[in-house]
Amino acid sequence: MANEINSLICRVCGKIQDDFPWGEDGKCPNYDICDCCGVEFGYGDCTLKAIRASRERWLANGAEWKYPKEKPDNWSLEEQMKNIPKEYM
Ligand SMILES: [Zn+2]
Repeated sequence: MANEINSLICRVCGKIQDDFPWGEDGKCPNYDICDCCGVEFGYGDCTLKAIRASRERWLANGAEWKYPKEKPDNWSLEEQMKNIPKEYM
């Protein structure tokens, strides 16, 4: 179960997605855009280097939501980033 949840998480920002960003097996990116950090799954998160660069860029821009209307009222950047599996930090 833990693995299943991990595979729903945006590797860049830690947001839990509705659909598996990299497929259930973690190998087939769906090329969706993260509502939160705006990364395109399969491009901006294709390597650890890309993940870190995307995250750095997003944080440097104030961790703005790509689609602000999706942002929960009680959203916490710190809490969300705890979701990021440590192999992607
Ligand atoms: Zn994201």
